[in-house]
Amino acid sequence: MAKNVITLNRGELARMNRLLDIKPDGCWRWKGEKTTNGYAKWSKVSGAPVRAAHRVIWEHYHQQQIPEGMQLDHLCRVRDCVNPEHFEVVTPSENTMRQNHFERNKTHCPQGHEYNEENTRITNKNKRVCRSCDRDRRRMRKDAASAEEGQPESG
Ligand SMILES: [Zn+2]
Ligand SMILES: [Zn+2]
Repeated sequence: MAKNVITLNRGELARMNRLLDIKPDGCWRWKGEKTTNGYAKWSKVSGAPVRAAHRVIWEHYHQQQIPEGMQLDHLCRVRDCVNPEHFEVVTPSENTMRQNHFERNKTHCPQGHEYNEENTRITNKNKRVCRSCDRDRRRMRKDAASAEEGQPESG
């Protein structure tokens, strides 16, 4: 069963440790490279194939491979957290079900705006987006752009 249990050698562990930012809330935030989606990336040596860091750490910590076809459910929902205790091995359908449940049960956006009919936009991927935050982001982009030009808005 336990074929090729992936363990990290000392050097790899040391390098990995330097990339962790251990937070008081227990999350291990990743300071290394991330995917465009914000997930932690890891490669043994530069140029080696890239793997999801949380999967590598999970396998090292549990001394077993993630079973074929199974996924890690990210219990804390912090994308760049790689703490192996913040994951649970689940089937893909269980994982999707939990994510939908989690999304549906949120009544407010991360900034605390309510998801009511007026303030909510549904994307074509069937995700909810907060309109207030949309507006804030647009404004910030505009501010950043004008700051770069060195012409702060007066007024
Ligand atoms: Zn976490
Ligand atoms: Zn919002």
